[in-house]
Amino acid sequence: MNLQILPPAASQIPTQDPPAEDPLDLMEEIDALKKEKDATILAHFYVDGDIQDIADFTGDSLKLARDATRVSTSTIVFAGVHFMGESAKIMNPQKKVLIPDLHAGCSLADSCPPDQLAAFQQQLRENGRNFHTVAYINTSAAVKSLVDWIVTSGNAREIIDRVPADKEILFVPDQHLGRYLMEVTGRRMILWPGACMVHEVFSIQDLIRIRRQNPGCLVMAHPECPQNILEISDVVGGTEKMRQFVIQRQQPTTFLVATEATMIHPLQKAAPQHTFIPVPGILASSGETCACNRCPHMARNTLQKIRDCLKTGGPEILWQDYFSKAREVLDRSLLQ
Ligand code: SF4
Repeated sequence: MNLQILPPAASQIPTQDPPAEDPLDLMEEIDALKKEKDATILAHFYVDGDIQDIADFTGDSLKLARDATRVSTSTIVFAGVHFMGESAKIMNPQKKVLIPDLHAGCSLADSCPPDQLAAFQQQLRENGRNFHTVAYINTSAAVKSLVDWIVTSGNAREIIDRVPADKEILFVPDQHLGRYLMEVTGRRMILWPGACMVHEVFSIQDLIRIRRQNPGCLVMAHPECPQNILEISDVVGGTEKMRQFVIQRQQPTTFLVATEATMIHPLQKAAPQHTFIPVPGILASSGETCACNRCPHMARNTLQKIRDCLKTGGPEILWQDYFSKAREVLDRSLLQ
């Protein structure tokens, strides 16, 4: 059979990227729009440095969730990923919460769909298991509404200590963080088999090789990294813990940082006396650093999109019924 190859319809031809705009002009425009629209910008440590520089609040998930409750403007722009925008809306039902790109998701959150979690919890109950479900904050609001506790890498130990000793723990969605928490808390956990696409690709061989090339360096790793990376790390902690650690260390040091590469920006800003080297993902045979350590979802945030969402008032996170239940859990876990 002869197949005729037809040209794509005009609507299917990819449109060209819009022409690049001067970042300084964009920053000025955003500043003016923030005042005009009565808006506050929150930015995660994993978005581009120029976005962090124009934000009113920067931080990790825990700090930003708390900061979101202190915002006095009527609008919040959340430069991060979708579940973070949901959390900001849950904590601030009366406010308009905008996110620059609706497609900025999270591979870790996606690895735990709410219907599958509900079915697994039901199965455990039918088998007579007496458990609490503890979820890492990197989950959808629908999943948050199904759990007993929410943790971030910054408060996980403290929250797990609050789970009654006679309960088992079902930990979702990050198996690596769960395994690390089992180790540091001594609690046994049923682990959901999820993982983050960025932290999972760090290669132990590459890390050992870079460590050899930098005698005297310290390795800092996020607990979302696999166990073999954590085992050879000098500091294991979430992004805020990393920041505090480097601020407190006066002696100039080279740090190898195993987390999303943009984290170098706030570290360098907070502690310029040090040298920070992002740990690469799996290297190409050429030995060059690949870009696996950039989160493609976080990278969807741009100055242009922030300007546009302020201008148009969208995309907006809209309140859903299950947000009320998720709010109870977030309140109990993060604010009390
Ligand atoms: S770095 Fe990983 S956990 Fe964080 S938003 Fe990206 S995919 Fe999700």
